Amino acid sequence: MGGVTALDLRLPHADLAGSWRAARPRPAGTHLDSAACSRQSNRVLEAVAHHARHEAELGGYVAEATAGDLLQQGRSVIGGLVGMAAADVVFVESAQAALAALLAAWPLGPAARVACLPGEYAPNAAMLRAAGLALEPLAVDGDGRADLAALERSLAADPPRFVHLTQLASHRGVVQPAAEVAALCRAHGVPLVLDAAQSLGHVDVDLGADVVYSTSRKWLAGPRGVGLLCVRPAVAAQLVPALPAPADLPPLRALESGEAHVAGRIGLVLAVGEHLAAGPQRVRERLAALGRAGRQVLDGAGGWRVVEPVDEPTATTTLRPPDGVDVVATRARLLTEHGIVTTAAGPERAPGEMTGPVLRVSPHVDGTVEELEALAAAL
Ligand SMILES: *Cc1c(COP(=O)(O)O)cnc(C)c1O
Repeated sequence: MGGVTALDLRLPHADLAGSWRAARPRPAGTHLDSAACSRQSNRVLEAVAHHARHEAELGGYVAEATAGDLLQQGRSVIGGLVGMAAADVVFVESAQAALAALLAAWPLGPAARVACLPGEYAPNAAMLRAAGLALEPLAVDGDGRADLAALERSLAADPPRFVHLTQLASHRGVVQPAAEVAALCRAHGVPLVLDAAQSLGHVDVDLGADVVYSTSRKWLAGPRGVGLLCVRPAVAAQLVPALPAPADLPPLRALESGEAHVAGRIGLVLAVGEHLAAGPQRVRERLAALGRAGRQVLDGAGGWRVVEPVDEPTATTTLRPPDGVDVVATRARLLTEHGIVTTAAGPERAPGEMTGPVLRVSPHVDGTVEELEALAAAL
């Protein structure tokens, strides 16, 4: 591990960095890409392998039945992270699959309108449109943050069928005032659907949304190919699944995919357990501090400029390139010449907000200032 710098000393919960790193395979390079996919722990990897072996020994369905209690505990702890109950949680394959399952089962009526950020994640916007919804942009400030006064006015004057809010974007580390949006939506009887793909395990998601969906592989550091959908009973009661759940299961279970990577779901349950053991509040504090340190270190490096306000309480930093520098080529150069993993995000990711490509930097709790300084030097 690297040397301790003055900035490192200001990062809280240094024990988290050491335990997170010690719990994982040694990285081949510098992983600053948790917003795409975090590194799984040895225990998660072993649990996934163990279940796959069980399937070969016992039979896939027998093995799944033996894991029934663990999976139910998982629904319960995931529900706890978003302020819902086990019966309100189902496993799916990804965040996108969660939104698809929700929209397919929710009769929204002809010409229904949904309010969402102008910087909505393009695949989400496409799926909302494909479901026949008319998208209405929420008013935002210069950072792309929802304008609460404008939201309140529009909820009162002409409420949409629901509000869809991506709490933390894929292309920008700006966190939305989701608790305030949830309170306003509740006061006006408008359901709030929260995309928590970038926020679960990163910032607080227990805010009173009616639907929360997310993914395993990002900040929770679970396996790929697993997602989750959480729906409060008031919205669940409106859903009309193509095939109802068996009578002995909660009705929402109709939306849980039956054929699935069960081993991956078990891995996610363990990853959530590790997140709880680390202390979600401590994880958030360290990630926020890493984001702040990263923005200080990276802004201006090689002419790259940080997009987010320096104190934004997230670990995700995005950088605009200097004139004439190609972001995709830079991302490739960082990987091949320096072993630094980042993401190049093009404007097609959020065409309503992005004016050009950005380089996204997203360390997990084991990130160090030394790594960020190495990135700055490489830029
Ligand atoms: C990654 C991401 C998604 C999609 O998640 P998948 O699990 O890949 O379907 C949705 N919304 C946001 C904001 C994301 O970052």
